[in-house]
Amino acid sequence: MTPGDTILEVSNLTKRFGGLVAVNDMSFNVRKHEVMGIIGPNGSGKSTTMNLISGALKASSGSIVLDGHDLTPLLPHKIARFGVARTFQLVRILPHLSVLENVIAGAAFSHRPCWGAEAEQFASDLLERLELGAKKDLGIDSLTYIDQKRLELARALASEPEVLLLDEWLAGLNPSELKIGIELIANLRGEGRTIILVEHVMDAIRSLCDRCVVMNSGTKIAEGAPSEVLSDPEVIRAYLGDA
Ligand code: ADP
Ligand code: MG
Repeated sequence: MTPGDTILEVSNLTKRFGGLVAVNDMSFNVRKHEVMGIIGPNGSGKSTTMNLISGALKASSGSIVLDGHDLTPLLPHKIARFGVARTFQLVRILPHLSVLENVIAGAAFSHRPCWGAEAEQFASDLLERLELGAKKDLGIDSLTYIDQKRLELARALASEPEVLLLDEWLAGLNPSELKIGIELIANLRGEGRTIILVEHVMDAIRSLCDRCVVMNSGTKIAEGAPSEVLSDPEVIRAYLGDA
């Protein structure tokens, strides 16, 4: 799907931890149906940026506006209601519930909440789309790693987010799982989802992102199509400096 109007506007976003400026005057926009990558060396401020957008952290200054709503002062659950969803590390999966129940729980706390039979149908359909339908009645502990990742994604998607935040969702996958994982995100892209993707896997960035922002030491140093920014000498220098 071709990107539409701007849906998320990040303006002059800054986050200080004591004397450390983890995110320094970052500005970028994300358009509807766009997959926007955020890349940069370790410690460059990518996760902090994602945490500011989801509300897990509060900005020191600057603003985050979704569809005309200023998210900057809001608590995470309010931000989720406005339509920002993120994947969590696996500990956030509810261990005593089945796969299906975990997704239903995601739907209950959603942007467009639903309950009962409707929620069950919705969650089942979502699991089918993520090729987890056959395992919906299993307990979480019987899932393989990639299936846990699928579940994490299903839970985030259950909230029908306007913007989905994926912070190194592909991390820890083996090479064959990685192919599946990239395909799954490509499918979401094909559905016209709006996604912000933080990734170290450059193949994923190249194949999935419309545009990406490059961060170094908290600052945006480049923005553009993946092929463009990845051949930018300043970007290459930032990565080599990290190694
Ligand atoms: P990235 O995701 O790009 O690897 P982070 O956003 O996690 O980078 O971290 C950016 C910088 O902010 C790092 O120097 C990190 O140590 C620091 N940092 C991140 N979170 C905190 C925190 N809660 N308290 C203090 N410093 C933090
Ligand atoms: Mg990180």
